[in-house]
Amino acid sequence: MGTPTEGPSADGLAENAIEVRGLKKVYGGNGRGGGLLALEHFDIAIPRGAFFGLLGPNGAGKSTLINILAGLTMKTAGEVTVWGHDLDRAGRMARASIGVVPQELNIDPFFTPREALEVQAGFYGVPKRERRTDAILRALHLADKADAYARSLSGGMRRRLLIAKAMVHRPPILVLDEPTAGVDVELRQQLWDLIRTLNAEGTTVLLTTHYLEEAEQLCDQIAIIHQGRLVACDRTEALLRRMDQREIVILVAEDLSDVPEALKHFRVTLQPPRRLRFGFRTSETGIGEILESVRKAGLTVTDLSTKESDLEDLFLQLTRNPDGVEPKAETSR
Ligand code: ADP
Repeated sequence: MGTPTEGPSADGLAENAIEVRGLKKVYGGNGRGGGLLALEHFDIAIPRGAFFGLLGPNGAGKSTLINILAGLTMKTAGEVTVWGHDLDRAGRMARASIGVVPQELNIDPFFTPREALEVQAGFYGVPKRERRTDAILRALHLADKADAYARSLSGGMRRRLLIAKAMVHRPPILVLDEPTAGVDVELRQQLWDLIRTLNAEGTTVLLTTHYLEEAEQLCDQIAIIHQGRLVACDRTEALLRRMDQREIVILVAEDLSDVPEALKHFRVTLQPPRRLRFGFRTSETGIGEILESVRKAGLTVTDLSTKESDLEDLFLQLTRNPDGVEPKAETSR
C-alpha cells in the first residue's frame, strides 16, 4: 500500500516523527490558575519508524497528548513538532502528517466502507486521482465489504475501517487510541498483526494503551505517563532490564511469630505462621543466598515459589503514589 514515509516532511531530515518540549495543558481555569492540570513539563521524542507505546492508567493524560498532536485540543504551553512541522507555525502540515484512529467505534451506519473512505479523503482534500480507496480496503481486508452498509460490519471490521479512514491522506504517523480496548483475544491478535505490518512498511505508530501486555508485545519503545508527567521512557527491553525486582515466597516447617533476627537484613515479611516473603534485586542478591540464610536461621524449607517481574511491576513501581494525592487543581502545584 505504498510507502507512508513519503508523506509531507518539512526538510526530509528530521529524524524524529514527533518532538514535544515543555508541553503543558490545563483544562478550564481562568488563565491565572484554577483549572485541571492534565500535562506538565512534558518532553518526548518519537523517532521516525518507531512503534511507540504510550502507557498509563486512566486519566494519566494520554488522550490529551494525542489530541494535542492531532490538532484536536489546544495546548496551554510548550512546543510540538510533527514530522518536522511546528504545530503553531505550520498546523495544517502537522495535522496532515497524522492519522488518528479514535477509540469509539463511531461509524456512519449508512455509508459503505468505500463511501466512508471517499468522504474522508474529500475531507482531507486528497484529489480524486491520488485516492487509494481500493488499495486501502484491500490492505485492511475490507475489499469484499467495500460496498456493504457499515451497519452490517462486525466489530472487528469497524475497527479496521477506522484504521482505513485514518490512512486516506497517507499520513506517515498513525496514532491509535486504545486500539484493542474491549476487543476479544482473536480480534486483538488480528489488529496487532495489522498494525505490525503497517509499521514494518514504514508507518510510525504511536499507540496508547493501558494493557501492559500490549505495550510489551508490540512496542519497541515505551513511555509511561502518570498524572500528566512522563515517568519513564525507554526501549522496551531496557525498561524490562531496569526491573530486576523479584519476589520469593518460602514456606518453612516451623511456626514463627516474628521474622528471625538473622533474616532481618533482607527485605522480608512474615505471613504467620510459616510463610516468608522476600523481595530482592537479582543484581544484588541471589536466591541461593536467601535459602542459605534461612537454613542458617534454623528453619526448614518445605516449599518455595518465585515471581519474575514484568512490565506490570515496573508500572506499579513507577506510578506508585505514596501520598495518594491526585493531580487536580493547577494552583495546588
Ligand atoms: P487518559 O487518556 O490517559 O485516560 P486524559 O488525557 O483523557 O487521560 O485525561 C487527563 C486528565 O484531563 C483527566 O483528569 C481528565 O479528567 C482531564 N480531561 C480530559 N479531557 C478533558 C476535558 N475536555 N475537559 C476537562 N478535563 C479533561
